[in-house]
Amino acid sequence: TKNSGRNGHSFFQPSMNANAQNQLQMLNDLRLAIEHHELRLHYQPKFIAPYGPVSGFEALLRWERNGITLSPDVFLPLAEKTGLIIPIGEWVLNEACRQLREWHLAGHTNWTVAVNLSTLQFEQANLVEMVIDTVERHQIPPEMLTLEVTETTAMRNPDVSVEILERLTQYGVKASIDDFGTGYSSLLYLKRLPASELKIDGAFINDLIAGSEDASIVSAIIALGQTLNLKVVAEGVETIQQQDFLTQLGCDTLQGYLLGRPMTPQQIAQHPDSDWDA
Ligand code: C2E
Ligand code: CA
Ligand code: CA
Ligand code: CA
Repeated sequence: TKNSGRNGHSFFQPSMNANAQNQLQMLNDLRLAIEHHELRLHYQPKFIAPYGPVSGFEALLRWERNGITLSPDVFLPLAEKTGLIIPIGEWVLNEACRQLREWHLAGHTNWTVAVNLSTLQFEQANLVEMVIDTVERHQIPPEMLTLEVTETTAMRNPDVSVEILERLTQYGVKASIDDFGTGYSSLLYLKRLPASELKIDGAFINDLIAGSEDASIVSAIIALGQTLNLKVVAEGVETIQQQDFLTQLGCDTLQGYLLGRPMTPQQIAQHPDSDWDA
């Protein structure tokens, strides 16, 4: 219980405010989340524009805490701040590779999985070895795994990012630049980054209509992607109008609630749409 009694080994000091107590309680619970099997991956499909087939899935982390499903926005900042993201990130990569292997054995040999990497994970000294080890352990083709790194993370230390992504892509794993358009990319480095994909940040897709400022930005990003030979993905596609417009602009891949929400592997297995497969 929260108060261990009068004798005073109470973990929560009366001087702490409620929010700090909540954060501390969350941190204690999060430390145990892996061994208590409370972490899950949901998978959101990515569709070749405009309607499919599915080219792959993005793994999105969830935490089943006391019967409530928590989104990463609630607990990942704390995990990042305390370094817990390192074991959690290893769990995510391992679980995503295990699932990918299972799908391939079930015949979905074209399906890929993308895993998000946080800044701390990306800057971990042994990241490359950890990724290669995990892929080898699950005996999956490395090309079927994509690592999503945000533009902001990649541009923190561009020379180092180029080197890390070069080692990973030489091994065969793909790289994707996430949340593109919200950071400050040096085009010189963008050109050197061995990525195969750019993901346009959902903020530019929300109010996307022909003639808008966002439309100009999105079409500039798509043109940039084409010039650099990168596949361009739009995330957060929620309306048919956005789907049509992005397809017209030449966007390669679409992701969003309109086409498919993040789902459990069970929900994916029960999905009736056979045209998900190529
Ligand atoms: P993200 O990588 O930009 O992922 C896209 C987010 O948008 C996801 O939120 C997804 O569920 C949500 N989304 C998808 N389609 C739509 C749509 O049509 N409309 C709207 N409004 N939202 C949509 P989620 O799952 O809550 O994840 C939030 C962020 O947490 C992710 O943003 C990513 O940065 C981070 N994250 C998720 N899983 C992991 C993980 O395993 N490791 C790390 N390091 N970060 C993760
Ligand atoms: Ca992402
Ligand atoms: Ca994003
Ligand atoms: Ca994001």
